[in-house]
Amino acid sequence: MASSSSISTARSSASQRWAPREVSEPPRCKCGISTSVRRSFTPENFGRRFFGCPNYTGRENPGCGFFDWLDYPAAFEANDDALVLLIVKMQRLEEKLEAEIAKSQAKDVEIDSFKEREKLLEEKLQGSNNNLKVKDEEIKRLKENGHRLREQLIKSWVLFIFVLVVGISLGMK
Ligand SMILES: [Zn+2]
Repeated sequence: MASSSSISTARSSASQRWAPREVSEPPRCKCGISTSVRRSFTPENFGRRFFGCPNYTGRENPGCGFFDWLDYPAAFEANDDALVLLIVKMQRLEEKLEAEIAKSQAKDVEIDSFKEREKLLEEKLQGSNNNLKVKDEEIKRLKENGHRLREQLIKSWVLFIFVLVVGISLGMK
């Protein structure tokens, strides 16, 4: 459990402009647990500390929504405004950059999978080309066999007719 001194004196440069409230101990949120000290990053309250529900983990998961300022509001100097805007701008740029990096990484993965698919297709094409070559050779061989068979058939017919003619001419004598 944090003591009042640790809460009010725990300062960083970002919280210098905010005057800390004297709090004996962190209030309990609607979940019934001791709240944690967090820092606001909105342009209006940049660096101002508050007690928030410890179950808060993000905008989608805000916990019970408990919220209580730890720091009093303080007047901004003109320069602070500019600084805060600059920091917020920088944060947005960082977010954009991260999103772009994530996008380009996703594209890289996409391109990789494209390349892999292309390679696979090429391999398949090569395989079917080889198959075609084998089939071509088979057809060529079959054609040659057919030629040879026809030649043999013609030869045997010629021989048969020759024998027949010789036989007939011999018989007629
Ligand atoms: Zn809560």
